[in-house]
Amino acid sequence: GLNYRKTAINEITKRAPKKCGPTDPLKKIWATDVFSLAAMEEALSKNAFKAMKKTVQTGSPLDTATADVVAAAMKDWAMEKGAKFFSHIFYPMTNITAEKHDGFIVTNSDGGAITEFTGSLLIKGEPDGSSFPNGSLRMTNAARGYTAWDPSSPAYVMHTDNGATLMIPSVFMSWTGEALDKKIPLLRSNKAMDKAAQKVLSLMGETEIATLNSSCGAEQEYFLVDEHFANARPDLVLAGRTLFGAAPAKGQQFDDHYFGAIPARVQVFMQDFEDKLYRLGIPAKTHHNEVAPGQFEIAPYFEAANVAADHQQMMMTLMKSTAKEHGFLCLLHEKPFAGVNGSGKHVNWSVGNSTQGNLLDPGSTPHDNLNFLLFCGAVIRGVHKFGPLLRAVIASAANDHRLGANEAPPAILSVYLGTQLESVFNDIKEGKLLEKAKGGLMDLGLSQILQFERDPGDRNRTSPFAFTGNRFEFRAVGSSQSVSGPLVAMNTMLADSLNWIAEKLEVVLAKGEDKTAAVITVLQELMEEHGNVIFGGDGYSSEWHRAAVEERGLKNIPTTADALPAFKDPSVVELFKSTGVLSPAELASRFEVYAEQYVLSIEVEAKLVVGMASTRIYPATIQYLDSLASAATNLSKLNISISHNSIDTVVAETDAMMAAVTKLQAAIDIEEFDSEEAHMDHCAKVLCPLMLEVRTHADALELIVSDDLWPLAKYQEMLFIK
Ligand code: ADP
Ligand code: MG
Repeated sequence: GLNYRKTAINEITKRAPKKCGPTDPLKKIWATDVFSLAAMEEALSKNAFKAMKKTVQTGSPLDTATADVVAAAMKDWAMEKGAKFFSHIFYPMTNITAEKHDGFIVTNSDGGAITEFTGSLLIKGEPDGSSFPNGSLRMTNAARGYTAWDPSSPAYVMHTDNGATLMIPSVFMSWTGEALDKKIPLLRSNKAMDKAAQKVLSLMGETEIATLNSSCGAEQEYFLVDEHFANARPDLVLAGRTLFGAAPAKGQQFDDHYFGAIPARVQVFMQDFEDKLYRLGIPAKTHHNEVAPGQFEIAPYFEAANVAADHQQMMMTLMKSTAKEHGFLCLLHEKPFAGVNGSGKHVNWSVGNSTQGNLLDPGSTPHDNLNFLLFCGAVIRGVHKFGPLLRAVIASAANDHRLGANEAPPAILSVYLGTQLESVFNDIKEGKLLEKAKGGLMDLGLSQILQFERDPGDRNRTSPFAFTGNRFEFRAVGSSQSVSGPLVAMNTMLADSLNWIAEKLEVVLAKGEDKTAAVITVLQELMEEHGNVIFGGDGYSSEWHRAAVEERGLKNIPTTADALPAFKDPSVVELFKSTGVLSPAELASRFEVYAEQYVLSIEVEAKLVVGMASTRIYPATIQYLDSLASAATNLSKLNISISHNSIDTVVAETDAMMAAVTKLQAAIDIEEFDSEEAHMDHCAKVLCPLMLEVRTHADALELIVSDDLWPLAKYQEMLFIK
């Protein structure tokens, strides 16, 4: 019969890497497909450009006349690059990117084709809102939604096999103005953070304070698997991860005989991919092999959070499509292979402006130090107060497999500061720095934090949330996730903490305390309440899992089912409401959408497990049993008897596997649940363990059944791509 796996191996051995000639110099390709400020300056009149620049930089609205001028110039620019279509591109509440393409074409009364692109088409679009998840917002509003241009993220031309399209980054909202996407909350969270930071900085005596923005640099991990293997594995194609597969023997030397050509293929893929990114103005900066075989990482240079988030989405889309052109399936799943390192997306985050610079950089004078200490303290308070929220924004069925799995951050949110900074904050907590401050010692010994070792040796890889010299790195984010959710949570918790700090500072300063003493006084109170979240030890250790919960009162939240209800917590509802980032209705809709996503992805996996076990693995084991049985029969005719041990084992494992399949199917068939929470619990506590039970027996069979008959590509075959 047809063995998909053997066919795949055959095809792969015949394949040569896709050719990729010498590429153009960076200068020639950099941002050529972006309608950047430079491109606008060239295309627009002086006045129109001035108005547009103001809009880009401050978000001030564009008047209709100028919008028409900008739209016409944008159309001409895009058409010159071959675009016949334009599309508002937006980011619904799921992790996907959505588009709706329209032609520039209109016909005139003579039946001739002319093109048109007005300011109103640029500014507003109307996709069919009903085809995107709205949560409860669908109930309270008409299904209609509309998209609106976000001028703070540049338009660009995307080239695909179907031609070129002018892409217009947009927000997506309901007819009554509720956020249906991931961009609106991000923009609002920046605003809330700016407002709160302004208060703190002016209390600190800063006179000129430019608008603050958050920055993001995201490191993206991914796996590449040859498409032939992927096509032979419905679990990889439909669920993005292997639902079956025995671990290769420990220390096994993989046989690289078949795969000699593959490293070259990956090189060629990366070069092709990065050139595409450069044309789109995405500053791809580093790439390298990751720990696991077949795993890689790419990290662009950091940018303004809103632009970085759009670029991140674009990168994920391009990564998959470019991989396909090179004969790979690109897996962004957090845990494609059990027992092998998973994939994360480290979100590096800082806040700053053009007048005070990066507020998470300790700077080089004691004065800078005070601002830095306040902002750093604000982050500490935020992670402590809203740890469960941070866990909720990174919760997904896929990321649950990674968090707490001893090669990824634990599912307990703590902050790593590094030895020096941790001791500064401990001194603050113990009142030591306050004594010095009252004694009028301006530099307080804070100069020690100026000599930060930015040495990776000081990094704690086991922390989910680490200070890394001039930024925080949220390491628990999953590889397939949008960076917006984490950025929104971080900006908003920071806004809340800065508001708290401003209130306290104002009171202490009013008492006539000097600035340094006032800062230390406020931070001492902050540390007393929130210092428990600081942890510099081994986050993987079982001792930490115990101590974090029992001694520190932190929460260990293992699954999405446990994590998502944080969105309903009154303190979280109040956080988003008071900062104006999400209304209670908008927040509630997010809970609904994420819960539904969780349930759907686990149900798809459960059905795949039933299907693959019944129609692929079971037939293969029966065929194997048949050959064992006939060998035994034939041998007995010659009066030779053979031990039945292996036959017995295959029978026992096959029976056990199919018994688990029956239980799993029965659990899938349960459809009535009292609440979303109950439905999620059923997935986490019933479906997941049963899937694992089926898998355990199937994986045992993989190690016994004849290699010739085994239908699924094996781990060592799929992984050995380096
Ligand atoms: P590592 O693997 O050591 O964590 P990388 O160099 O791979 O570091 O990635 C670090 C990421 O952090 C890059 O995207 C980088 O541009 C980004 N980054 C650096 N400084 C800042 C900052 N101040 N704010 C936000 N991101 C930053
Ligand atoms: Mg990193």
